[in-house]
Amino acid sequence: MVNSFQVSHRNACFIVTLFVIIVVCVGLMAGLIGKDDCSGCSSSGNDLTSTLPPLTTTTPSWEDEPFRNPFLPDFLSPVHYDLWMHPDFYGEGNTFEGKETVEIAVTKETKYLMLHIKLMDITKTEVRGHDGQLLDLTRTFEYPDNQYWVVELANPIDPGTSVFLCLEFTGSLTEGIVGYYKSTYEHAETGRVGWMSTTKFQPSDARKAYPCFDEPRFKSTFNISQRHWRNYTALSNMPEYHHEDDENGWRETYYEKTVRMSSYLVAFIVFDFEHKDNIIEPAGIPHRMWAAPDRINQTSYGLEVTKAAAEALEKEFNMTFHLPKLDQVAVPDYPSGATEHWGLITYRESRLLYDPDQVGDYDKQRVATIIAHELVHNYFGNVITCYWWDEIWLNEGYARLYEAFAVDVFDPEFHLQTQFVVNTMQTVMATDAGGSSRPVVVVITNPDEANSAFDSITYSKGASMLRMIEGFVGVDRFRLANQRFLRENEFGSVKSQDLWDAIQKEVGDEMNVTAIMTPWVMQMGLPVINLVLEDNNVIRATQKRFMNDPDADLSEPESPYGYRWDVLLAYETKNGDSDRQWMHAAQESVEFSVAIGNNNWVKFNPNEFEPLDRSNILDDALNIARAGQLDYEVPLNITQYLVNEDEFAPWATVYNNLMYISNTLYWSSVYGPWRRYVEQLSRNRMSKLGVRDEGSHLEKLNRDDIMLISCLHGNEECLVNSSSLFTRWVQDESDSVPTNLRAAVYAFGMQEAGGDDEFDVLWHRYDIGTSGQEKNNILYALAQSTKMWHIQRLLDYSQDPEMIRDQDFFTLIGNIGANPLAKTLLWDWTRANYDALIARFGNDNRSFQWMVPGMVDGYTTQFELQQVEDFYEQYPDAGPGARSREESLDSIRNNIKWRERSEHVIAQWLEKNA
Ligand SMILES: [Zn+2]
Repeated sequence: MVNSFQVSHRNACFIVTLFVIIVVCVGLMAGLIGKDDCSGCSSSGNDLTSTLPPLTTTTPSWEDEPFRNPFLPDFLSPVHYDLWMHPDFYGEGNTFEGKETVEIAVTKETKYLMLHIKLMDITKTEVRGHDGQLLDLTRTFEYPDNQYWVVELANPIDPGTSVFLCLEFTGSLTEGIVGYYKSTYEHAETGRVGWMSTTKFQPSDARKAYPCFDEPRFKSTFNISQRHWRNYTALSNMPEYHHEDDENGWRETYYEKTVRMSSYLVAFIVFDFEHKDNIIEPAGIPHRMWAAPDRINQTSYGLEVTKAAAEALEKEFNMTFHLPKLDQVAVPDYPSGATEHWGLITYRESRLLYDPDQVGDYDKQRVATIIAHELVHNYFGNVITCYWWDEIWLNEGYARLYEAFAVDVFDPEFHLQTQFVVNTMQTVMATDAGGSSRPVVVVITNPDEANSAFDSITYSKGASMLRMIEGFVGVDRFRLANQRFLRENEFGSVKSQDLWDAIQKEVGDEMNVTAIMTPWVMQMGLPVINLVLEDNNVIRATQKRFMNDPDADLSEPESPYGYRWDVLLAYETKNGDSDRQWMHAAQESVEFSVAIGNNNWVKFNPNEFEPLDRSNILDDALNIARAGQLDYEVPLNITQYLVNEDEFAPWATVYNNLMYISNTLYWSSVYGPWRRYVEQLSRNRMSKLGVRDEGSHLEKLNRDDIMLISCLHGNEECLVNSSSLFTRWVQDESDSVPTNLRAAVYAFGMQEAGGDDEFDVLWHRYDIGTSGQEKNNILYALAQSTKMWHIQRLLDYSQDPEMIRDQDFFTLIGNIGANPLAKTLLWDWTRANYDALIARFGNDNRSFQWMVPGMVDGYTTQFELQQVEDFYEQYPDAGPGARSREESLDSIRNNIKWRERSEHVIAQWLEKNA
């Protein structure tokens, strides 16, 4: 008898496709010849500079005018940069100047040189031949369509030689918090204001700091130097080897030559932070962690994690760390979580710093995870780099997968592999079932598209596919394949095919890796496997594409792979029988001969499954019902067992799935009975866990989920305890709430007991707080107020970057968006202020362009849909948000259909069962 079907284990689950967009194949120049300073380029200014000149042909030809091609040509490649930067960020200063000499290898006769620039002025351009001779220029100009600086020479350059392009340039440090920018902070105790200049380049903003070949495939070495006030620290990717001081208080700091790397991995910072040190073994690499002086005592945990993770990864990948030092910096203004600049990793403060008195275990885990994530990039991202952003999953999929591995080595109590299934794999499967999903590998031709590729398909589906491969080739062979992949492409750039080749070499002719994996990365979506028990103890498996919308055309958009996949199916019985076999894309169905009873959803017996399998069964059943392919009765019947569920994973799954139903029904008359049902389900677990801070890591995370479910659905015990802890803490800050309860207690306390006085107290604590995570908890709580004048105050504050930092603005908007009562206020405010927001953040800002889609994707009525469509029409420039707008419209349409289809079914079920 089969009692335990491995429904979505790493073998049998979820795979996904691939195509290679650009056919260009480039031989990267491997030369390491350096030219050590800019002194060879001096003399005249660039009087040749003009705006875009008249073109010589009316029909653009990339052959004759290669600057019209949005991709840099293959016949030019940077070999080495000498780069000197001088940021003026002190006090009111907000500009920078720079000089560089780029050695460029030329492999085809050409009279054009071009490289990327953005929002900067080039004040001088010269070119010297390999013999040092100054070359005559016909003209120089900016070609804004492709963000190029173009140099046209009077005479063609001979192929097989190098030239030296010398540029001087200036720019602003206040064009948003990406690229090269100024960050300001205030010392919590002394009130002293400090400034720093820092960088965040990935994917396409290195060109805002220095002219460069800003595509990841171009790797070269760098000699970097910076001019700065002598009493400030200046860091870059490599260790300092020398500095010179002048009599006016200025210092020039010079760094050792880098290894070969992509332009976006360069970093330079000047600041007056403090640091704590550690050593990474076995090579004894010095490691420093930097923070603003009043936060330096929050670095101890990060130092420990970094050491352990770096050492574990070095062993796992069988490759040394490569760089002679590692610096990590907590930057007060940071647009994302962190960036893997090689040897100088930059983080948002709340992602690197950890204060045990202020921060709960979930945020602690996030600090560990993101530290590990950036360290994985040292290999997947830095040593080998995606050839172009269309295959960024090769960087981010590996980082997402191995962050869990590295943290597990450091602290197995986190159980990150379990959390991976629930938080990464299950959530992205739901996303990928939408009609506006995308293939993992997708055409990208400009920086907006490159920006939009940093989404859950890249990270979570990418990582899930790698985990699936590990499942079918085995842990050991996967490890060897990864090591081979790194070794054979060291300091180079890679495409998915290079990975398939590396795996193929490990598995021999046992399977065709390219054939299996190509449809997974090249087409969007995922299959649902249907198992039918036939009379003669045979289970027949068939596949079809799984989509959230039951009316969707399963063949749209057209895919050369016909939305079929190679899937490895496996089973295991209670008495130890097991088998696995491939269902290939071309096969109609496959058969398993298994003695099995009448096994179907309705017969689900939770006691016969492991927690992770229970979680997967719940996820599958609820998602398939949500997509209209299974009667809601089935998963709702299954959920009844939850009154006795004590494990983390099923609750975490249910949290996501039940919250979809709760949010979508919130404004419906069914919400009352539904709310009571969910409250009943979680009541047992809530009583067992209590509102106290104890238990294992997963228990603590589970308590967080259960408190959110219980309080949101009106559990008295949860609400009363939360508001009493909240009120005591508001009245006396030393009567603090246990760190792991804070997120829920602050939010529900504010909701239940938050008047104007409480608002003022919380705002003050937010304003002076030094722990990023504690500030996040407070900001979230403020946004959950039921008093709309509180929400309006927050929206007013958000207009002033000194009250709500730019980096926290979108967090605040998301927090308000999570408060269902504030929905209309937020939407009206956004529409009324949208022009001002464009002016503040710019249309090319990823977070800004994701703001409205994230705000509206839970809307559930035709009327709301119309409003959103009108809004998108009024503001057609979606920049990097184009696809997320489509996704949000899809999501609203699906919600509308879902209500039409499911609301009455759920109502009837509740009447009968609840
Ligand atoms: Zn990453």
